[in-house]
Amino acid sequence: MSQLLEGKTALILGVANKWSLAYAIAQAFRREGANIILTYQGERLKQTVEELGAELGASKIFECDVTKPEDLTKLAELDRLDAVVHSIAFANREDLSRPFVDTSREGFLLAQEVSVYSLVSVAKATAPLMTEGGAIMTLTYLGSTRVLTNYNVMGVAKAGLEAAVRYLASELGEKKIRVNAISAGPVKTASARGIKDFSKILELVLTKAPLRRNTDPAEVADMAVFLASDLGRGVTGDVLFVDAGFHIMGL
Ligand code: NAP
Repeated sequence: MSQLLEGKTALILGVANKWSLAYAIAQAFRREGANIILTYQGERLKQTVEELGAELGASKIFECDVTKPEDLTKLAELDRLDAVVHSIAFANREDLSRPFVDTSREGFLLAQEVSVYSLVSVAKATAPLMTEGGAIMTLTYLGSTRVLTNYNVMGVAKAGLEAAVRYLASELGEKKIRVNAISAGPVKTASARGIKDFSKILELVLTKAPLRRNTDPAEVADMAVFLASDLGRGVTGDVLFVDAGFHIMGL
Protein backbone atom coordinates (compact mmCIF):
# COMPACT_ATOMS: atom_id res chain seq x y z
CA MET A 1 0.00 0.00 0.00
CA SER A 2 1.38 3.44 -0.85
CA GLN A 3 2.28 5.79 1.94
CA LEU A 4 0.60 9.19 2.18
CA LEU A 5 3.73 11.20 3.05
CA GLU A 6 6.33 9.41 0.97
CA GLY A 7 9.04 11.82 -0.20
CA LYS A 8 7.93 14.57 2.19
CA THR A 9 9.99 16.13 4.98
CA ALA A 10 8.23 17.38 8.12
CA LEU A 11 9.52 19.55 10.95
CA ILE A 12 7.75 18.72 14.22
CA LEU A 13 8.07 21.10 17.18
CA GLY A 14 6.77 20.15 20.62
CA VAL A 15 7.76 16.59 21.49
CA ALA A 16 8.43 16.55 25.23
CA ASN A 17 7.76 12.86 25.95
CA LYS A 18 5.86 9.89 24.56
CA TRP A 19 2.54 11.33 25.74
CA SER A 20 2.98 14.52 23.69
CA LEU A 21 0.53 15.00 20.81
CA ALA A 22 3.59 15.87 18.73
CA TYR A 23 5.00 12.39 19.43
CA ALA A 24 1.82 10.70 18.16
CA ILE A 25 2.06 12.90 15.08
CA ALA A 26 5.73 11.97 14.57
CA GLN A 27 4.83 8.26 14.78
CA ALA A 28 2.03 8.64 12.21
CA PHE A 29 4.23 10.69 9.88
CA ARG A 30 6.89 7.98 9.97
CA ARG A 31 4.26 5.29 9.36
CA GLU A 32 3.29 7.21 6.22
CA GLY A 33 6.87 7.42 4.99
CA ALA A 34 7.83 11.00 5.91
CA ASN A 35 11.34 12.07 6.78
CA ILE A 36 11.00 13.83 10.17
CA ILE A 37 13.00 16.49 11.99
CA LEU A 38 12.28 17.04 15.68
CA THR A 39 12.99 19.96 17.97
CA TYR A 40 12.79 20.21 21.75
CA GLN A 41 12.58 23.21 24.03
CA GLY A 42 15.75 22.96 26.10
CA GLU A 43 18.55 20.92 27.66
CA ARG A 44 16.10 19.35 30.14
CA LEU A 45 14.35 17.45 27.32
CA LYS A 46 17.44 16.68 25.21
CA GLN A 47 18.00 13.07 26.28
CA THR A 48 14.34 12.03 26.17
CA VAL A 49 13.67 13.55 22.77
CA GLU A 50 16.92 12.22 21.33
CA GLU A 51 15.97 8.71 22.48
CA LEU A 52 12.44 9.01 21.09
CA GLY A 53 13.77 10.51 17.86
CA ALA A 54 16.31 7.70 17.43
CA GLU A 55 13.54 5.09 17.88
CA LEU A 56 11.47 6.86 15.25
CA GLY A 57 14.38 7.30 12.86
CA ALA A 58 14.27 11.12 12.85
CA SER A 59 16.85 12.55 10.45
CA LYS A 60 17.68 15.50 12.69
CA ILE A 61 16.97 16.48 16.31
CA PHE A 62 17.90 19.83 17.78
CA GLU A 63 17.05 22.37 20.46
CA CYS A 64 14.63 25.16 19.56
CA ASP A 65 13.13 27.39 22.21
CA VAL A 66 10.63 29.45 20.22
CA THR A 67 11.20 32.48 22.42
CA LYS A 68 14.88 32.66 21.35
CA PRO A 69 15.61 34.42 18.02
CA GLU A 70 18.89 32.49 17.61
CA ASP A 71 16.95 29.19 17.81
CA LEU A 72 14.48 30.39 15.16
CA THR A 73 17.45 31.13 12.91
CA LYS A 74 18.34 27.43 13.13
CA LEU A 75 14.94 26.59 11.63
CA ALA A 76 15.53 28.94 8.72
CA GLU A 77 18.80 27.11 7.95
CA LEU A 78 17.10 23.75 7.30
CA ASP A 79 16.74 22.31 3.80
CA ARG A 80 13.46 22.00 1.89
CA LEU A 81 10.37 21.28 4.00
CA ASP A 82 6.89 20.07 3.09
CA ALA A 83 5.18 20.23 6.47
CA VAL A 84 5.58 21.98 9.82
CA VAL A 85 3.78 20.87 12.97
CA HIS A 86 3.58 23.51 15.72
CA SER A 87 2.55 21.67 18.88
CA ILE A 88 3.63 24.19 21.49
CA ALA A 89 1.88 26.10 24.25
CA PHE A 90 2.70 27.43 27.70
CA ALA A 91 1.01 29.30 30.53
CA ASN A 92 1.92 29.68 34.16
CA ARG A 93 0.16 27.09 36.30
CA GLU A 94 -1.39 29.77 38.55
CA ASP A 95 -3.07 31.32 35.51
CA LEU A 96 -4.82 28.00 34.85
CA SER A 97 -6.47 27.85 38.25
CA ARG A 98 -7.12 31.34 39.65
CA PRO A 99 -9.96 33.59 38.42
CA PHE A 100 -9.27 34.84 34.87
CA VAL A 101 -9.76 38.43 36.00
CA ASP A 102 -6.65 38.03 38.19
CA THR A 103 -4.37 37.07 35.26
CA SER A 104 -1.10 38.97 35.56
CA ARG A 105 0.24 41.07 32.70
CA GLU A 106 3.42 38.94 32.62
CA GLY A 107 1.44 35.68 32.58
CA PHE A 108 -0.81 36.94 29.80
CA LEU A 109 2.10 38.06 27.63
CA LEU A 110 4.04 34.85 28.25
CA ALA A 111 1.09 32.71 27.13
CA GLN A 112 0.71 34.87 24.01
CA GLU A 113 4.39 34.76 23.16
CA VAL A 114 4.91 31.01 23.51
CA SER A 115 1.51 29.82 22.31
CA VAL A 116 0.57 32.36 19.61
CA TYR A 117 3.44 34.53 18.39
CA SER A 118 5.60 31.41 18.00
CA LEU A 119 3.33 30.20 15.18
CA VAL A 120 3.97 33.46 13.34
CA SER A 121 7.74 33.36 13.91
CA VAL A 122 8.00 29.67 12.98
CA ALA A 123 5.97 30.32 9.81
CA LYS A 124 8.25 33.24 8.92
CA ALA A 125 11.36 31.08 9.36
CA THR A 126 10.06 28.01 7.53
CA ALA A 127 7.77 29.26 4.73
CA PRO A 128 10.77 30.13 2.48
CA LEU A 129 11.86 26.47 2.80
CA MET A 130 8.55 25.21 1.41
CA THR A 131 9.65 25.77 -2.14
CA GLU A 132 7.11 23.33 -3.57
CA GLY A 133 4.26 24.44 -1.32
CA GLY A 134 3.46 22.79 1.98
CA ALA A 135 1.35 22.54 5.10
CA ILE A 136 1.76 24.31 8.41
CA MET A 137 -0.43 23.12 11.26
CA THR A 138 -0.93 23.91 14.92
CA LEU A 139 -2.87 22.44 17.84
CA THR A 140 -5.75 24.28 19.44
CA TYR A 141 -8.58 23.64 21.89
CA LEU A 142 -12.29 24.43 22.25
CA GLY A 143 -11.49 26.93 25.02
CA SER A 144 -10.77 29.43 22.21
CA THR A 145 -14.47 29.98 21.55
CA ARG A 146 -16.21 28.60 24.66
CA VAL A 147 -15.59 29.29 28.30
CA LEU A 148 -14.05 26.15 29.80
CA THR A 149 -13.40 26.28 33.52
CA ASN A 150 -9.76 27.06 34.37
CA TYR A 151 -8.59 27.25 30.73
CA ASN A 152 -8.56 31.04 31.16
CA VAL A 153 -5.44 32.69 29.74
CA MET A 154 -4.88 29.76 27.42
CA GLY A 155 -8.39 30.14 25.96
CA VAL A 156 -7.53 33.71 24.99
CA ALA A 157 -4.23 32.49 23.55
CA LYS A 158 -5.96 29.80 21.47
CA ALA A 159 -8.42 32.41 20.12
CA GLY A 160 -5.39 34.44 18.98
CA LEU A 161 -3.76 31.31 17.57
CA GLU A 162 -6.81 30.47 15.46
CA ALA A 163 -6.96 34.04 14.15
CA ALA A 164 -3.24 33.85 13.33
CA VAL A 165 -3.94 30.66 11.35
CA ARG A 166 -6.44 32.57 9.19
CA TYR A 167 -4.13 35.53 8.55
CA LEU A 168 -1.17 33.26 7.74
CA ALA A 169 -3.32 31.10 5.46
CA SER A 170 -4.50 34.15 3.59
CA GLU A 171 -0.94 35.41 2.99
CA LEU A 172 0.87 32.12 2.38
CA GLY A 173 -1.77 30.64 0.09
CA GLU A 174 -0.18 32.20 -2.99
CA LYS A 175 2.96 30.19 -2.19
CA LYS A 176 0.79 27.04 -2.06
CA ILE A 177 1.31 26.83 1.69
CA ARG A 178 -1.77 25.80 3.66
CA VAL A 179 -2.15 26.73 7.33
CA ASN A 180 -4.64 24.98 9.62
CA ALA A 181 -5.35 24.18 13.25
CA ILE A 182 -6.43 20.86 14.70
CA SER A 183 -8.73 21.30 17.68
CA ALA A 184 -8.06 18.21 19.77
CA GLY A 185 -10.29 16.89 22.51
CA PRO A 186 -8.67 16.72 25.96
CA VAL A 187 -5.76 14.27 26.26
CA LYS A 188 -3.76 13.68 29.44
CA THR A 189 -0.35 15.12 28.54
CA ALA A 190 2.21 17.05 30.63
CA SER A 191 0.70 20.39 29.53
CA ALA A 192 -2.85 19.25 30.25
CA ARG A 193 -1.89 18.24 33.79
CA GLY A 194 -1.20 21.94 34.43
CA ILE A 195 -4.92 22.70 34.11
CA LYS A 196 -6.72 22.47 37.44
CA ASP A 197 -9.25 19.57 37.65
CA PHE A 198 -8.29 18.23 34.22
CA SER A 199 -9.42 14.67 35.13
CA LYS A 200 -12.97 15.97 35.64
CA ILE A 201 -12.96 17.29 32.06
CA LEU A 202 -11.99 13.83 30.77
CA GLU A 203 -14.84 12.25 32.75
CA LEU A 204 -17.36 14.76 31.42
CA VAL A 205 -16.32 14.28 27.79
CA LEU A 206 -16.69 10.53 28.21
CA THR A 207 -20.39 10.89 28.98
CA LYS A 208 -21.29 13.86 26.75
CA ALA A 209 -19.33 13.42 23.51
CA PRO A 210 -21.36 11.90 20.65
CA LEU A 211 -18.87 9.03 20.42
CA ARG A 212 -19.06 8.55 24.25
CA ARG A 213 -15.31 8.40 24.66
CA ASN A 214 -12.23 10.55 24.92
CA THR A 215 -9.82 11.49 22.14
CA ASP A 216 -7.00 9.15 21.19
CA PRO A 217 -3.76 10.98 20.26
CA ALA A 218 -3.49 8.66 17.24
CA GLU A 219 -6.71 10.17 15.85
CA VAL A 220 -5.25 13.66 16.17
CA ALA A 221 -2.13 12.39 14.42
CA ASP A 222 -4.14 10.96 11.53
CA MET A 223 -5.75 14.37 10.99
CA ALA A 224 -2.23 15.83 10.87
CA VAL A 225 -1.32 13.21 8.23
CA PHE A 226 -4.37 14.23 6.20
CA LEU A 227 -3.42 17.91 6.38
CA ALA A 228 0.23 17.26 5.48
CA SER A 229 -0.70 14.97 2.61
CA ASP A 230 -2.11 15.76 -0.80
CA LEU A 231 -5.52 14.64 0.49
CA GLY A 232 -5.71 17.95 2.36
CA ARG A 233 -4.78 20.06 -0.67
CA GLY A 234 -8.03 22.04 -0.70
CA VAL A 235 -8.15 22.86 3.02
CA THR A 236 -6.62 26.01 4.50
CA GLY A 237 -7.25 28.61 7.19
CA ASP A 238 -9.48 26.22 9.06
CA VAL A 239 -9.94 24.66 12.49
CA LEU A 240 -10.61 20.93 12.23
CA PHE A 241 -12.02 19.17 15.29
CA VAL A 242 -10.81 15.77 16.43
CA ASP A 243 -12.70 15.52 19.71
CA ALA A 244 -15.18 12.62 19.41
CA GLY A 245 -17.71 15.31 18.43
CA PHE A 246 -17.82 17.03 21.83
CA HIS A 247 -17.83 20.56 20.38
CA ILE A 248 -21.24 20.14 18.69
CA MET A 249 -23.06 19.51 21.97
CA GLY A 250 -25.31 22.02 23.69
CA LEU A 251 -27.66 21.08 26.50
P1 NAP B 1 3.10 18.62 25.84
O1 NAP B 1 3.53 17.23 25.58
O2 NAP B 1 3.44 19.21 27.16
O3 NAP B 1 3.60 19.54 24.65
C1 NAP B 1 3.75 20.94 24.76
C2 NAP B 1 5.09 21.26 24.18
O4 NAP B 1 5.33 22.68 24.11
C3 NAP B 1 6.20 20.67 25.04
O5 NAP B 1 7.10 19.97 24.22
C4 NAP B 1 6.82 21.93 25.62
O6 NAP B 1 8.13 21.79 26.07
C5 NAP B 1 6.69 22.84 24.44
N1 NAP B 1 7.08 24.22 24.76
C6 NAP B 1 6.67 25.01 25.77
N2 NAP B 1 7.34 26.18 25.75
C7 NAP B 1 8.17 26.13 24.67
C8 NAP B 1 9.13 27.02 24.11
N3 NAP B 1 9.37 28.23 24.63
N4 NAP B 1 9.82 26.63 23.01
C9 NAP B 1 9.62 25.41 22.46
N5 NAP B 1 8.73 24.53 22.95
C10 NAP B 1 8.03 24.88 24.04
O7 NAP B 1 1.49 18.74 25.73
P2 NAP B 1 0.49 18.54 24.51
O8 NAP B 1 -0.85 18.38 25.15
O9 NAP B 1 1.00 17.52 23.58
O10 NAP B 1 0.48 19.98 23.83
C11 NAP B 1 0.76 20.18 22.45
C12 NAP B 1 -0.22 21.20 21.87
O11 NAP B 1 -1.52 20.61 21.86
C13 NAP B 1 -0.34 22.49 22.67
O12 NAP B 1 -0.48 23.58 21.79
C14 NAP B 1 -1.65 22.28 23.43
O13 NAP B 1 -2.26 23.48 23.83
C15 NAP B 1 -2.43 21.56 22.37
N6 NAP B 1 -3.64 20.85 22.83
C16 NAP B 1 -3.55 19.94 23.83
C17 NAP B 1 -4.70 19.29 24.25
C18 NAP B 1 -4.65 18.31 25.40
O14 NAP B 1 -5.71 18.05 25.99
N7 NAP B 1 -3.53 17.75 25.72
C19 NAP B 1 -5.94 19.57 23.65
C20 NAP B 1 -5.99 20.50 22.62
C21 NAP B 1 -4.82 21.12 22.21
P3 NAP B 1 8.33 21.71 27.70
O15 NAP B 1 7.78 20.41 28.12
O16 NAP B 1 9.77 21.86 27.88
O17 NAP B 1 7.57 22.87 28.28
